[in-house]
Amino acid sequence: MSQPGDAPDGRCQRCGTSVSTRFRRVFGGNDETVHGCVECMTLSELCEGEAALEEEASAPTLE
Ligand SMILES: [Zn+2]
Repeated sequence: MSQPGDAPDGRCQRCGTSVSTRFRRVFGGNDETVHGCVECMTLSELCEGEAALEEEASAPTLE
């Protein structure tokens, strides 16, 4: 459900899932951008603030 007032980057920057403005404010960085969401991160990771980090230092998924 996209609304005209949504910010263009109102999505998880990692997996592209739409996230709410509230979610971004809570878990995002200063620019309210999230690099993780409940779809691609665990709750514990989110609670540790990892969604606000641009690089996923603790996720050894890259080769
Ligand atoms: Zn995500």
